[in-house]
Amino acid sequence: LLGDDGRLAATIFEEVTALAARTGAINLGQGYPDDDGPAFMAEAARRAILEGRNQYAPGAGIPELREAVAGHQRLHYGLEPDPETEVVVSTGATEAIAAAVLAFVSPGDEVLTFEPFYDSYGATIALAGGVHRTVPLRAPDFQPDPDRVAAAVTDRTRMIILNTPHNPTGAVFGPEVLARIVELAIRHDCIIVSDEVYEHLTFGVRHVPVASLPGAWDRTLTISSAGKTFSYTGWKIGWASGPAPLVAALRTVKQFLSYSSGPAFQPAVAEALALPLESFAGLARDLETKRDLLAGGLEEAGLDVYRPAGTYFILADVAPLGLADAAELARRMPAELGVAAIPVSAFCHADGARATRSLLRFAFCKRRDVLAEASRRLAGIA
Ligand code: PMP
Ligand code: GLN
Repeated sequence: LLGDDGRLAATIFEEVTALAARTGAINLGQGYPDDDGPAFMAEAARRAILEGRNQYAPGAGIPELREAVAGHQRLHYGLEPDPETEVVVSTGATEAIAAAVLAFVSPGDEVLTFEPFYDSYGATIALAGGVHRTVPLRAPDFQPDPDRVAAAVTDRTRMIILNTPHNPTGAVFGPEVLARIVELAIRHDCIIVSDEVYEHLTFGVRHVPVASLPGAWDRTLTISSAGKTFSYTGWKIGWASGPAPLVAALRTVKQFLSYSSGPAFQPAVAEALALPLESFAGLARDLETKRDLLAGGLEEAGLDVYRPAGTYFILADVAPLGLADAAELARRMPAELGVAAIPVSAFCHADGARATRSLLRFAFCKRRDVLAEASRRLAGIA
């Protein structure tokens, strides 16, 4: 995370995407789909721009979108946030995560995440002066060991950042482990920040928001984003919901990060979030077949593949090829093979980086012909 000079370095996503562009490689590194989301959303945004919705949106987000977020939480999970006080719209999930950490973490406070962890958690904990503790997720199932979680949560723990479905492992945390985490959070009076941006991208398992478990609501901020659910990552429309005091603190900090953004995108996302339940399954069904296509290609190339239960990322181990250093391979692959991927060690501190040294993350939210071509190229990896 920190460069050699001790400053925050360029993100791994920026780095790999630049390398893929420079070499003309197929970019299975940074997670973004190569097909945009539903056309009606682009149309709604275009209409909004032409209707003049181009000046600052309210800091907390436009009322239609806050209502749509509340309605979505009710329809899918039986949660009932009040759109007036318990929902906030953010500039992507990234801003909501940063605002939550900056709102609640003081210098020296401990924040627990699972490792590998999405890179912005480490960076924002560092910006807040927090102490970052981790519990490892390990192959083959990448589920947290409840005893290790229990050992890591203490009275010094201010916040637990959860991410399920999990980037980069694709693990979907089961209700038992979530219940254990809630119990620990209550015992040690911690806030839970639950990053659920992949909530609708699961394959054969159901996503359970931690906020829906008994005792969790009062201490949980649930975060999601239109980027993943609707395949509009660049719009950077995210949101958080939770009890009014936590949302109020998040809104306060958010005023001084972006204040607000995307006034013409917000109505389009509101329209999409209000779609009926069945409409949300299509993207996951499509992604599941893509997961299997790329998994097949990676297996044929001789890698050990961990087929994920959620997200659009797949982890593969290059050790069976006699290769040990996935980071070194990731730097060579774009030029030598024409495929870019991300080393899992980029999502880890030193110990975790050693344990995940031979793992690569591939994004499969790409067109079938692109995945087929990537598989063909990967056959040359050995
Ligand atoms: N959390 C996770 C786990 C992610 O993978 C991402 C990547 N999109 C984000 C947060 C950031 O989401 P957004 O683009 O909406 O800021
Ligand atoms: N979330 C995306 C990923 O994990 C990348 C987002 C970003 O580039 N910051 O690949």
